[in-house]
Amino acid sequence: MDSTKQVIEKTEKYGAQNYKPKKVVFAFGEGATVTNPEGDKLFDMLSAYSALNFGHRHPEIIQACKDQLDNCTLSSRAFYNNIMGEWQEKLCKLTGKDKVLPMNTGAEAVETAIKTARRWGNFKKGIEDGKQEIIVCTENFHGRTTTIISMSTDPVARKGYGPFTPGFIVIEYGNLKALEDAITPNTVAFLIEPIQGEAGVKCPPEGFIKKAYDLCKSKNVLFMADEVQTGFARTGDMFACQHEGIVPDIYIFGKALGGGIMPISAIVANDDIMSVFTPGSHGSTFGGNPLACAVSIKAMEILVRDNYPKMAKEKGEYFKNKLKEIKNDKIIDIRGRGLLIGVEFNCDASSYVEKLIANGVLAKETHDTTIRFAPPVVITYEEIDQACAAIKKALED
Ligand SMILES: *Cc1c(COP(=O)(O)O)cnc(C)c1O
Repeated sequence: MDSTKQVIEKTEKYGAQNYKPKKVVFAFGEGATVTNPEGDKLFDMLSAYSALNFGHRHPEIIQACKDQLDNCTLSSRAFYNNIMGEWQEKLCKLTGKDKVLPMNTGAEAVETAIKTARRWGNFKKGIEDGKQEIIVCTENFHGRTTTIISMSTDPVARKGYGPFTPGFIVIEYGNLKALEDAITPNTVAFLIEPIQGEAGVKCPPEGFIKKAYDLCKSKNVLFMADEVQTGFARTGDMFACQHEGIVPDIYIFGKALGGGIMPISAIVANDDIMSVFTPGSHGSTFGGNPLACAVSIKAMEILVRDNYPKMAKEKGEYFKNKLKEIKNDKIIDIRGRGLLIGVEFNCDASSYVEKLIANGVLAKETHDTTIRFAPPVVITYEEIDQACAAIKKALED
């Protein structure tokens, strides 16, 4: 097997430089840990940005994938396949919604939500086509397509990529008054991450999600929750919106929906909204493919059967309390819900990330000063203890 050094050299030589990965190579993964080519075992505290809620290679999900590989992997939407319908039913029952529209990546699901809202605004609310407005938040992260970066407030994500897609209004995350002021007769939707992962595990003020939802209802504006990172138990609830007891008009899912194996994403909504789609008006070749759907069905089954939300809540509390024992004056905040935890420093955190990695804990800084800890939900208490001992060693000066 190529060494870590060889792998990195080859990867950099033949790859575009649109990422700057930490110098760790994954060669084998199991549960909450990965092993590099040299045989060192490390704790995965990023979980591929929550795509690995089920851990690496969950045995039952792997088996479901292998079984489906022996039957059928792709139909395209020109024909039916015998798995997609069952997957849709499962996702509808899990969310309490009527209908699913399948895509592959988180960004595609966000794009789909944008198209849904615009059509709904035109078809159902009577807004002139081309005048639809969608309200989004500062420091949002919804993906990387040209339209999505058009609503980003991150200069690095936007530089040199113009012209941008119009129709987005940016308000301060968590500011209800700003939302109220931004709504016009042309507003079709408010798009929000219930917790902003990429921005540094930022939670809105308690009660904001509920109040924003109520405001949207009173103004006939769709409330669209990007739960690509927060969905499927990560925050200690099945969906982060449940923390404030609301069900968004449109759920946007990705990442963990694919059990850490297949890319699969979706939006989920009721008939009155989803009915804006007619044959030919939207689609995806791989969307709803039977391989990804079979994997996702098994993932959802395990999620409910093993009560992942409860696991994430309890393990998250345990983990967070251990992190609070760390003595370092530069740590100014430890926040988050469930197993989505941010540790904020009053200085650049990248040197601490290097120390973590040297001690066998994989994590990454986000927005320079915050380190996100988001291990797979399957991490054991014993592993949390081991990882926290290493984290303490790395972070205490
Ligand atoms: C990761 C992420 C996306 C984009 O998902 P991709 O699969 O990378 O396109 C969108 N929204 C949120 C909140 C995310 O965390």
